[in-house]
Amino acid sequence: MISFTKIKLYGNKKGMDFMRVSQLLNPTLREVPAEAEIVSHQLMVRAGLIRKSAAGVYTYLPLGLRVLKKIENIVRQEMDAKGGQEILMPVIQPAELWKESGRWDIYGAELFRLKDRHNREFCLGPTHEEIITDLIRGEVRSYKQLPLLLYQIQNKYRDERRPRFGLMRGREFIMKDLYSFDQDEAGLNKSYQKMYDAYCRIFSRCGLRFRPVEADAGAIGGTGGTHEFMVLADSGENGVVYCPDCNYAANVEKAECRPQAIEDVEIDDQRKLVHTPEVGTIDEVCKFLAVPKTRLIKSLLYQGDDRVFLVLIRGDRELNEIKLNNALGGFVSLQLASPDVVEKTLGCKPGFVGPIDVPAGLLVIADEEVPLLKRAVCGANKADYHFVDTVPSQDFRIDQVFDLRTVEPGEACLKCGAPLKEARGIEVGQVFKLGTKYSKALGAVYLDENGEERPCVMGCYGVGVSRSMASSIEQNHDDAGIIWPIPIAPYHCIIVPVSTKDAQVVEAAEKLYQDLQRLGVEVLLDDRDERAGVKFKDADLVGYPLRVTIGSKTLGNGQVELRERKTGETQLVLVEEVAQQVK
Ligand code: ATP
Ligand code: MG
Ligand code: MG
Ligand code: MG
Repeated sequence: MISFTKIKLYGNKKGMDFMRVSQLLNPTLREVPAEAEIVSHQLMVRAGLIRKSAAGVYTYLPLGLRVLKKIENIVRQEMDAKGGQEILMPVIQPAELWKESGRWDIYGAELFRLKDRHNREFCLGPTHEEIITDLIRGEVRSYKQLPLLLYQIQNKYRDERRPRFGLMRGREFIMKDLYSFDQDEAGLNKSYQKMYDAYCRIFSRCGLRFRPVEADAGAIGGTGGTHEFMVLADSGENGVVYCPDCNYAANVEKAECRPQAIEDVEIDDQRKLVHTPEVGTIDEVCKFLAVPKTRLIKSLLYQGDDRVFLVLIRGDRELNEIKLNNALGGFVSLQLASPDVVEKTLGCKPGFVGPIDVPAGLLVIADEEVPLLKRAVCGANKADYHFVDTVPSQDFRIDQVFDLRTVEPGEACLKCGAPLKEARGIEVGQVFKLGTKYSKALGAVYLDENGEERPCVMGCYGVGVSRSMASSIEQNHDDAGIIWPIPIAPYHCIIVPVSTKDAQVVEAAEKLYQDLQRLGVEVLLDDRDERAGVKFKDADLVGYPLRVTIGSKTLGNGQVELRERKTGETQLVLVEEVAQQVK
């Protein structure tokens, strides 16, 4: 049973934080909102934490904002503890910098682009490598100024193809992004380790059950290592594999296979043709191969140390459908079509294009007239999609399946040989060794001890602050509502006077409220003239860790009831003892 003794550890400020539920903007709902598919989204709306403005764009109401600020503060403390210095960079970023880095043309439809009245181009920052590298090239001259760890906590803008799940995949969301600048790889490795450790602390302090996993370099690019921090939850959009015997864990995109340089491999050496009568759906493939669906998918993904790239093609140019079957976790079924269909289906404009949200591992078999697709799929980051090659589709018949099981695996998977287990994960953070990609492109150089010019060696490190909040709910809830871990709860405790008509009860509630306030407990008083049942329901829904119920019966014995939200355990305590526990 938690008590105030524990809660006082988290009390941060004394007094001056009075809030009565009668005055609080906390519109709770009994009904599950129709558009909310996952539990965190449902509960955040029902508990009155957020309200939607547009797809993927939300307002944080007072209780929601309190949780967010707590997570931000944990992040801030851990960044500061590692020597991070907080700055605040602009949301509006000039296109010139993005053109210098080369990302303006390849970042794709996720980038919110805008023009000012003079027709100058800008974007809303989805990430800040360009801005910070520009800052550093102007301010850093000498090795003596390095290393530097600079971070901010700020809104990010990404025009996600599928904004959904509430705060999980927003188009405006809050991220902490830190950038490290070092003299060399050894320095980068140290900075990386610092951030890795800090992230473990952050997510532990937020009460999340998570796993760092080896990951693939995405749109950010760079050649060094990268880890994602995955909160384990069934609603996670990422597949994670891990070894129960050693500590190996990886995003499936990484683990399946990382063909070292698949472009270097002659495609003829890689494929075994399997003829199928008519390929179109995974069911048909399964039927043809005489394997159950689950096995096929598993073998596609993880079995052995291989990875199958399965591409189903149709040469029919009239065909106007492209299926990218994300749900099957890496299985890609492409039915190629003309560029306009590609454009329509993938939502990318001719002449562009950046990364598209397709699973890793894609062999593109395309007609000559579909170079657009090749670019669309590969975009900036070939590595992300293990692009193999474009092979004219007339070379192949409509009914062929390529089995690339012979592709050499990368160094990933399989460290100790034990069979891997799989889980779903929500990516709440990522640490990334960028190397000199941006410092070289933008000329962020310093003079070393010998007076020689060298590019700074960079890393970048993101925490999804708003996503972490949603992730916590995915892991901590029950049928009645949210169960906040104490460190990030909007308030530690709510006092519920059972009746607002009973003067003694009201007086005792007021007194306890003031006492706890003075002692630094973050406490709410539910002074509404509502039935106790309604107040209890709301308290459970919002998920305050501790509830103090004051009713006339127990108060007759000088007692109040403490109830722990997590376990439902209750305990009668003398009123004076409540304050004692805090002192
Ligand atoms: P995802 O794979 O989910 O699209 P990402 O790899 O594109 O995320 P990063 O560029 O690594 O994201 O950004 C750092 C962190 O920001 C992510 O680990 C995630 O927690 C958070 N984040 C990214 N995109 C969103 C989003 N659309 N809404 C909320 N949080 C996000
Ligand atoms: Mg993304
Ligand atoms: Mg990602
Ligand atoms: Mg990421």
